[in-house]
Amino acid sequence: MTLDTSTLRVAFAIVSLTLLLLFYFITFRRTRAAYSGWWCLALTLFLTGSAAYLLNGTVHQVWANPLGNVVLVAGSASVWAGARSLRTAVPGIWYLAAGPAAAAVASLLDHPATNNWAGGAVFLALMAILIGLSSRELFLLDHSYSRVHRPLAVATCILAAYYLGRLVAFVVEGRDGRIFTSVFGSAATTIVSSVLLVVASFSMAELSYEQQTQDLRARATVDGLTGLLNRTAFMDLARDELRRLNRARTTATLILADLDHFKLINDQFGHSAGDTALQAFADACTAAVRSTDLVGRYGGEEFILLLPGVPPERASEIAADISRRLQSHQSTLVPRLPTVSYGIAGTAPGRVDLEALAASADAALYRAKTLGRNRSVLAASLLEDKSA
Ligand code: GH3
Ligand code: MG
Ligand code: MG
Repeated sequence: MTLDTSTLRVAFAIVSLTLLLLFYFITFRRTRAAYSGWWCLALTLFLTGSAAYLLNGTVHQVWANPLGNVVLVAGSASVWAGARSLRTAVPGIWYLAAGPAAAAVASLLDHPATNNWAGGAVFLALMAILIGLSSRELFLLDHSYSRVHRPLAVATCILAAYYLGRLVAFVVEGRDGRIFTSVFGSAATTIVSSVLLVVASFSMAELSYEQQTQDLRARATVDGLTGLLNRTAFMDLARDELRRLNRARTTATLILADLDHFKLINDQFGHSAGDTALQAFADACTAAVRSTDLVGRYGGEEFILLLPGVPPERASEIAADISRRLQSHQSTLVPRLPTVSYGIAGTAPGRVDLEALAASADAALYRAKTLGRNRSVLAASLLEDKSA
């Protein structure tokens, strides 16, 4: 069976167009992620490049053949930019333009009117390099980044190796060589490219779906203003942590914090000053505790912390440290930062009921307020600690 290259190229163009339309309307318009945009651009360029090659053998070959080379190399540069945008900044425009420019010069200088492989070696080398760079970016992503980037890295690596094989066969045997025309010929390349285009589009769609799900999950667990855990997420995590600590026979301390006369900050300096004070308090909390402690926004101007392995007396020193850090916060927006009252409750061995622990801390906090605010009260004996 002989596969006619022109027919295959038309089929490739139809596959690319279908993928482009599906990807644009189903994936890109929904997520608007940078890599989706680069992939749409790459599909458009692959489509245009393969369409340009259909003019080989006509009077238009003189411009269509170099154009095909340039546009396909630009498509691979877009794949590289898209892969890199997953990890770090996109390469500068000059880096992206260098490949297509080199392909243009090499093709135009190599008799494109009569030679339908004008600039062939440079074209194949650029394709291998750019697809290889895309594969490298995907391999450099953390293992846990997604379920699909590794298979995608392998697929692009295979394509880069295929282009390298084509380059070697082209240089060693020439355009009419037996291996180059059979294994690495235009017909075989069109089939390989079609398959990989489908694999890559499917993986890209899956990647953006995964990222959207992660984004939604993060938004559902994080408080938008302070970046701390929201109340539901805190309570879920704290419940699990208390159970784990109980199994390990370790205690923990819960702190409830409430900013004093916070309404006055809003009234005197405005709501955005109030927001800044809340963010400053959240920063003070995260700076004062360990990364393994849990910190959440309990609601409005109330915060909650769970400190595993920390006794209540030590927790009251940590509360004092948080207040000190808050007062040292510099901001032109909030000329005066509020003081803070804390209610502190420690777990007893075997006592893992988070709601009961929070109720004890709340009672202690209430006592701290009635005793004049700006202090910590320990729940167990409702001892007052004025060091805050
Ligand atoms: P107390 O010392 O008794 O706790 O007095 P307070 O003024 O801090 O307490 P109160 O419950 O009377 O007021 C809390 C205020 O916190 C009222 C509400 O407008 C404000 N607040 C709640 N959430 C936000 C927020 O996200 N941003 C800002 N700027 N203010 C908020
Ligand atoms: Mg309150
Ligand atoms: Mg308050």
